[in-house]
Amino acid sequence: VKKPKIVVLGAGYAGMMTTKRLTQQFAPEEVDITLVNKHNYHYQTTWLHEVAAGTIDVNRSRIMISDVINTRHVNFVHDTVKKINKENKTVELDNGTLSYDFLVIGLGFEKATFGIPGMDEHAFSIQSVDKSRMIRDHIEYQFSRYRNEQDPDPSMLTIVVGGAGFTGIEFLGELAERIPALCKKYDIPRQDVKIIDIEAMSTILPGFDEDLLSYAKESLESRGIEFKLGTMIKEVKADRVIVGEDRQEIKTDTFVWTGGVQANRIIGESGFELTKGKVNVDATLRTPEQDDVFILGDCAWVMNEETGKPYPPTAQIAIQEADVCAHNIKTLIYGGTLRTFQFDNKGTVASLGGSDAMGTVFEGTKLYGMQAKVMKNVIDDRYLFMLGGPKLVLRKGKFRPF
Ligand code: FAD
Ligand code: NAD
Repeated sequence: VKKPKIVVLGAGYAGMMTTKRLTQQFAPEEVDITLVNKHNYHYQTTWLHEVAAGTIDVNRSRIMISDVINTRHVNFVHDTVKKINKENKTVELDNGTLSYDFLVIGLGFEKATFGIPGMDEHAFSIQSVDKSRMIRDHIEYQFSRYRNEQDPDPSMLTIVVGGAGFTGIEFLGELAERIPALCKKYDIPRQDVKIIDIEAMSTILPGFDEDLLSYAKESLESRGIEFKLGTMIKEVKADRVIVGEDRQEIKTDTFVWTGGVQANRIIGESGFELTKGKVNVDATLRTPEQDDVFILGDCAWVMNEETGKPYPPTAQIAIQEADVCAHNIKTLIYGGTLRTFQFDNKGTVASLGGSDAMGTVFEGTKLYGMQAKVMKNVIDDRYLFMLGGPKLVLRKGKFRPF
């Protein structure tokens, strides 16, 4: 009997956890499992704001895939996906083609630019280890340049962040910690550095709890972050951003865009129908047209039946979807009842840099400061535990409260 071929694309939260669950559910002689990723490591996307600011080392945020996935059970292919051909059930890679019986797409997100001119060319984004590391190096280089010029332009030390969603806020928190350290290293007065966040809505973290977002704003402002709220970014140029209806210009050599995400462009280019940049999947995590293709994580919209709106793109959701996907693949092979995705919301906690954080846990309990930070570290370590057990927590974990 031919063994079913399961191909998982992308080793992010969705791809890694699906692969892990598949190896727990099937013996090697039952199915062929292939995991494709463009790096030989998995990275913690939820820590990338720390990599981008330079508050943690790059290696802390990445884990060799072969350290946590049994490569005798899983065929790991270190290659880049170019296109999915759903009609003939193949995937084109840079260096070959794979065929599948079941496909799991976990290729993650890329920045959504909403057609804003100059965004593609001139904005940094916190999107991968490589792109985040570039932000860290760029910021430090600006300090070094500033120090070496006779009459330096203040725009070298003006950092503009576009968007005050969770990514923007967490990045600002890390900058608030990192910038004083860089000032010390390069003998530059702190007041020479400006960190400005531009947010289109009248509040930071639109839609989030009022008390918590006020706490976050005050915490960041007290450490020198300026907010320009109700101000839309209109255009980005190499040396400035243009904001607001009056097209005010802010000169900056460092513009980091955190204004939103959309599915990896490969999905659209492979002919999947997109709604606001993502694929609408049903609660079994498939589209009605392709019952052998599962789309997970930031590539997918799953409808929240209670609110009538799709769930947001979060790691928490991607991880929970992996369980449903692995179960459903087993059901399609052996029969039984398909599971539907039901979100078990464990809360949302955001770090604000150093030992500060805020968020909600357990159906609305609010946490602030150190208490929230400890919870954030517990959440981070819980994932590491799920992926690689206590050994991984000891090697990469955040068990120290700060
Ligand atoms: P990803 O984690 O983006 O993984 C996609 C994988 O696919 C990557 O490994 C990538 O290398 C690989 N890949 C991409 N293209 C290709 C290709 N062409 N070929 C082969 N491989 C490819 N969510 C939370 O729940 N809690 C948080 O605290 C939180 N914090 C965040 C902080 C930051 C700074 C950011 C940016 C996001 C945060 N999120 C958080 C959101 C969360 O990170 C995403 O929802 C999550 O990463 C989505 O998981 P994923 O598996 O879909 O994709
Ligand atoms: P987002 O879409 O949540 O926020 C983007 C922000 O940018 C919004 O506030 C929006 O109003 C603003 N914006 C958009 N266009 C703009 C413009 N032209 N000018 C000015 N502002 C503009 O995106 P994100 O923050 O990258 O988050 C992506 C996902 O990751 C979300 O689901 C989020 O919950 C999740 N996330 C979670 C955490 C956490 O739980 N700690 C941390 C980071 C990200």
